[in-house]
Parts: sequence; structure tokens; C-alpha cells
Amino acid sequence: MIDLHTHTLFSDGALLPYELVRRAVAMGYSAIAITDHVDPSNIDLVVPRIMKALKRLREFVPMEVIPGAEITHCPPRIIPDLVKEARSLGAKIVVVHGETVVEPVIEGTNRAAIEAGADILAHPGLITTEDILFAKDKGVVIEITSRKGHSLSNGYVAREAIKFGLSLAINTDCHEPGDLITKETARKILFAAGVDEKRIESVFENSRLLVEKALRRD
Ligand SMILES: [Zn+2]
Ligand SMILES: [Zn+2]
Repeated sequence: MIDLHTHTLFSDGALLPYELVRRAVAMGYSAIAITDHVDPSNIDLVVPRIMKALKRLREFVPMEVIPGAEITHCPPRIIPDLVKEARSLGAKIVVVHGETVVEPVIEGTNRAAIEAGADILAHPGLITTEDILFAKDKGVVIEITSRKGHSLSNGYVAREAIKFGLSLAINTDCHEPGDLITKETARKILFAAGVDEKRIESVFENSRLLVEKALRRD
């Protein structure tokens, strides 16, 4: 299992980074990205802290742990600057909190995330065809999520992504210990969203490619 969207108590998650990592290792994960919520108020606190913790803990962890950030509820016009800032602070996976159907995320956030070249557009809700084609062009991966609420639009996202040949990845958006999932559960969630068995492996492959890309940023 590879999971590139998780939270710790550096934003609104329940766990310290190392406990999250331990629990992921125990569930058989091979890679995880820690992507705490950031906006202009905390980006320069959170990303360096995660980097510092991982530097010290990495040798004790038998899997890849990738520092990242999730740019969350920001005006679309400043999203490109925040993506750049996150990367310059050391985030190797930059997620943007997309236009989920269960929160009042500002319209235009999906577009700004794609334009900014985020790695993953998380829970993009009822993403438009125009944005799907733009994401494909820019190599931005969109997310199928196991998270309650955000997952309501999984079926729509999967159908549209498959129709237009856009890459998908599955993540948990983990906030608490019970949110981590096995690869078997990930498979079921993808299948339930309408991704057929042949395509499920390619979704896992997209996460592997994102990990490779992130590690090249070292
Ligand atoms: Zn989010
Ligand atoms: Zn999240």
C-alpha cells in the first residue's frame, strides 16, 4: 500500500508523525507521504518540522516516508505561490485540498492546483471536463479517497478520469489510526468507484510513479 495523503497532529491529525509511520509499517505499507494542512499561517512551521523529524527518524523506518503538505482552503490566486513555497521548504509531495462536495472550498481551487503543478489534486468533487483535460495535460494526478464525505464523489471522479485517460491515485487522507487501509481495502474502494480490475493495478502504479518522482527531488 502506498498512501500519499495523511495528517498528523502538526495539523488536525491525531498522531505524531512517528506513530503514524509505525502504524503504517504494521499494516504493510511500502510508502507514505505526510501532508499536513497548510496555508500562509503555518506553512513555514509545519513543513520544516516534518522534514526535521523525518531526517532523525528515517533510519529507523523500513519504508519510504515522504515529507509533503496539503494546501488547504486558500484563495486560488495564492495557490501557485504556496505550491512553490512548499517545495522550496522541502515538501516532495504537494497536495491541494480540492473542491470536495462536502466543504465550501472556493470555486477555482481545482483549476489553480492544476495550473500550479501540484502533484495530487485531492478529492476534486465534481471536477469539470475542462479541468480534467487540463490536469491530464499538466500531469497532475487526481485522487480517489477512502475518507468519509470526500468519497461521495469517487464514482464521478473515477468515471470521468477513465473517460478522458487521466491518472488516478488512491489515498486515505488519514487523520486517525483507524483511517489507514490495507491494499485489499483500497482495491475494494476502487472497484466500488467503478474502476475495473484491469485498471486497478494501474492506479497503484501511478502512486509508485509519484513516489519515484518525489524521491528524485531529494
Ligand atoms: Zn483535503
Ligand atoms: Zn487531507
